[in-house]
Amino acid sequence: MSTPPTPTDPIRAATSPARKAAAVGPLSRLLFGDVPERRGPLTLTLLSVLVYALFALVVNWQARMGLMDARDAATWSAIGLSGILGFYALIRTGLSRRLGSDPSMTFPQITFSSLATVYGYAIDPPMRGAVIAIMVLNLMWGMFVLRDRQTLGLCAFGLALLAATMGWKIATRPDLFPPRIEMLNFAFAAIVLVAAAVVSMRMGTLRMRLAQRKGELQQALATIRELAQVDELTRLSNRRHVIEALAAEQVRCLRSGRPLSVVLIDLDHFKAINDQHGHAVGDAVLCAFADALRGGLRESDAAGRWGGEEFLLLLPDTSAAAAAVLVDRLRDAVARMSFDHVLPGLRISFSAGVTECAPDEHSHVAIERADQAMYLAKEAGRARTTVHGRDALSA
Ligand code: GH3
Ligand code: MG
Ligand code: MG
Repeated sequence: MSTPPTPTDPIRAATSPARKAAAVGPLSRLLFGDVPERRGPLTLTLLSVLVYALFALVVNWQARMGLMDARDAATWSAIGLSGILGFYALIRTGLSRRLGSDPSMTFPQITFSSLATVYGYAIDPPMRGAVIAIMVLNLMWGMFVLRDRQTLGLCAFGLALLAATMGWKIATRPDLFPPRIEMLNFAFAAIVLVAAAVVSMRMGTLRMRLAQRKGELQQALATIRELAQVDELTRLSNRRHVIEALAAEQVRCLRSGRPLSVVLIDLDHFKAINDQHGHAVGDAVLCAFADALRGGLRESDAAGRWGGEEFLLLLPDTSAAAAAVLVDRLRDAVARMSFDHVLPGLRISFSAGVTECAPDEHSHVAIERADQAMYLAKEAGRARTTVHGRDALSA
């Protein structure tokens, strides 16, 4: 069946992408662009830019205090800031999507940060203890994105890098990097980095469970939505949904001023099919008839199971007279239909009541009129259509 579109939902309209885009200011558009999926990664990368800028301020301040070489401080700041801004540019322009499977570039960003951090360790002897804490921050940055293997890889990479730098510094500047202090620093770094990796992986497990639950919930919601709208046997709209569809059509007709017809169809002598051939055959006939409705109606029409062997049709932009013609054509098609796959030689007919539904009347009133018309068709001998308020049109 074709389900008529529901009238505009004010909540959906208020939160529509167009409305959201309009609400975004020019600065936000400049920083984040127009692609909604890039907003999350860009926010995190801009936060990295801010952290790098603050670190640059601190190391240059340290240099001014004479606690580290000013050129080293400037070089570190330049490399760190240009590197992280480069990642921002790659994500903002969409190039990151073309370069790798992870458009947020979290793994390369953390690899870069590990290098920058260990470089800081080498050039900042007095504050190198603080650098170890920064290595933990690097790992935490990937907590919501990285897979376990990547987290472990980055942890091992950071420790190997640190060990190599410590070895190099012990060999070249043992006065500033005494071996015993370096060994202790390494022990601290190993403990906190491995602990951070374990916490990060635990977070990953929780993240996966959450994603799985979300998928299951969405599946359950889809099933509930279907159960609330679809008739289990015939897969047509159920009674509740067809009433909703009728209300929506009435709103459209009110706007367009076009007529809307409602048709109630009842299969003739259906009980006899059940009684003679069993309920299962009756069910199969109902399904085959539903298929005929789906095939015989126009794209804009809608059909639903009203209950038992009764069906309701909604025919927008259709006067009662035109609806009666359409229903008679449907009856001819159904009369010619073969139900041999269900029961050889079986033929079925139906009686129908047609009425026009006014935009401002309660839908139940119109359906009641169609029902009365359908009973008139039954009384007049079945296998015919009656338009409410008129004589039977066909026999
Ligand atoms: P009429 O021409 O007057 O409409 O006669 P009828 O036999 O079609 O009408 P009646 O109301 O006497 O019987 C309707 C039958 O439809 C009775 C009921 O068992 C059957 N029916 C209702 N729902 C279902 C269903 O889901 N499956 C099957 N197989 N039969 C159903
Ligand atoms: Mg009936
Ligand atoms: Mg019947």
